[in-house]
Amino acid sequence: EAKIQGRDNYQFFQTAMNEAAVARFQLSNRLRNALDNRQLILYYQPQFATTSGRLTGVEALIRWQDPEFGLIPPNQFLPFAEENGFIHQINDWVIREACTQAQKWVSAGLFEDSRISVNISGQNINFKRLGETIFEVLKDTGLNPYHLEIELTERVMMEKPDEVCHTLSLLKQAGVSIAIDDFGTGYSALSHLQLFPLNTLKIDKSFIDNLQTTANGHALLQSIIGIAKSFNLRVVAEGVETDDQRLALDGMACDELQGYLLGRPMPRELFEQRLLTDYNQT
Ligand code: C2E
Ligand code: MG
Ligand code: MG
Ligand code: MG
Repeated sequence: EAKIQGRDNYQFFQTAMNEAAVARFQLSNRLRNALDNRQLILYYQPQFATTSGRLTGVEALIRWQDPEFGLIPPNQFLPFAEENGFIHQINDWVIREACTQAQKWVSAGLFEDSRISVNISGQNINFKRLGETIFEVLKDTGLNPYHLEIELTERVMMEKPDEVCHTLSLLKQAGVSIAIDDFGTGYSALSHLQLFPLNTLKIDKSFIDNLQTTANGHALLQSIIGIAKSFNLRVVAEGVETDDQRLALDGMACDELQGYLLGRPMPRELFEQRLLTDYNQT
């Protein structure tokens, strides 16, 4: 009897596995279609100089605009795309879309001293090819490399440090900015600041949150900024939500701020409207 039950369980397990496989297959197809049908879109979140309040850049953040499920945030489909390798096509698309938009804004005289930041993620990234894609897109769009920044996490960089160093050096030499994203979380090590050619350090939101909630939050943040400055990096605070946080960061010589307090990620149309008004006020 135990044997029969064992077999039933096994069959149940197999059916469940097949259903999961079917679900994955359907999600794959749906995501592929989304890319083909322009249902993947970019939102834009502004970054500002801490002291002057001037616009310094904008981060491109992907969304899936599904006709049935509405606006799907990246953490609900990027992990899946990263698992099955579809992320590489997404990375390529985001680079091209971001550079195309940025060049439009530059041409309109609305983005002269600003940068667009693009997130790159995934496993098994072919960095040599990625670098070539970036150079090709810059050429195709006519965007000056000065206007582009690439954001990578330490986790992504550490998968193939030699290959990453090589590609990032070429990009940096050409004028593209390199940012280390979510600094201070997970795989962080100070040696990474020395290992990789960087321009910008983005301090993870958790450290900004800790300003209010942790006794040593202030000292820790101050130290991170000090270290970044000693490496001549531009420092951007992520996830700034309150005026108290903004004031504290101003006192710590944090170069730039990004967060809901200053501006949420917004659709292209709204960002462009603000470029025409608030963001280019002098
Ligand atoms: P990230 O690159 O660290 O982006 C910052 C995230 O924090 C964004 O979430 C942004 O909307 C959110 N954020 C900004 N300010 C605040 C704030 O004041 N409060 C709070 N609570 N959140 C804030 P989002 O857009 O959901 O993106 C999540 C992550 O998904 C990104 O983290 C990035 O790792 C990844 N991602 C987003 N777009 C892309 C993309 O185009 N390509 C790749 N490969 N990854 C992307
Ligand atoms: Mg980012
Ligand atoms: Mg980040
Ligand atoms: Mg993050």
